Amino acid sequence: MPLARPIVFGNWKMHGLRADALALAGSLAQRSARLSATLGIFPPATVLAEVARRVADTALMVGGQDCHDKPEGPYTGCISAPMLKDAGARAVIVGHSERRHGLGESDDFVCRKARAAIESGLLTVLCIGETEEEWLAGRRFEVLTRQLDGSLPDSATAETLLIAYEPVWAIGTGRTPSIEDIRETHAWLRRRLAARFADGAQMALLYGGSVKAANAAEIMAQPEVDGVLVGGASLHAEEFWRIYTSGGGA
Ligand code: PEP
Repeated sequence: MPLARPIVFGNWKMHGLRADALALAGSLAQRSARLSATLGIFPPATVLAEVARRVADTALMVGGQDCHDKPEGPYTGCISAPMLKDAGARAVIVGHSERRHGLGESDDFVCRKARAAIESGLLTVLCIGETEEEWLAGRRFEVLTRQLDGSLPDSATAETLLIAYEPVWAIGTGRTPSIEDIRETHAWLRRRLAARFADGAQMALLYGGSVKAANAAEIMAQPEVDGVLVGGASLHAEEFWRIYTSGGGA
């Protein structure tokens, strides 16, 4: 079944000791017994199982922030897709720019992670996006083409994977592309997906990068924007909920 739109996902990144994480999850859980759209949170792995238990009776989705491409093995510090699932995750982010650029993850590695996540039955959120240098050089579509070709596996379907377009220069900076640029990029992504996948027209496309309650409604109103991936603003229950409702979620 396709996810109800809008899809609003919150990436908590490396934030949240147990008490804070459970308080935030609890506050969202109180409003999420039933949801008309899709709301998900991606807490740090250390609190994922507890958060998943805390929201188990609600419609909130819980996901991991990354996974390894192997199910198990000698990979110190890494977490596999089956482990995330075992801890209560239903989804996982792969290819976030903080891992691609911050930790040097290649398109190929991200592709293998996405394949592993899909095989484990996790909804896979594949992040792509250009750096500021690439943006200024007018290389946005060239970079997105390379990332889509290199890190989006052929096994993906609209049921198993969604794309988050996150310009690197918009993440955590308070800056966003213009609404026309977001519309243009998403229309371009939609054409690429529709040309490659039988169900590419249904594959969900999220925008991410400095989304907050003040700009979420306009962004989510764009034709090929099915939702948003939110970082900083997802750490505040009230603000995150306002983002969700401003896109039409109730
Ligand atoms: C993110 O990390 O995916 C993100 C979009 O961050 P922020 O909303 O803080 O820009």
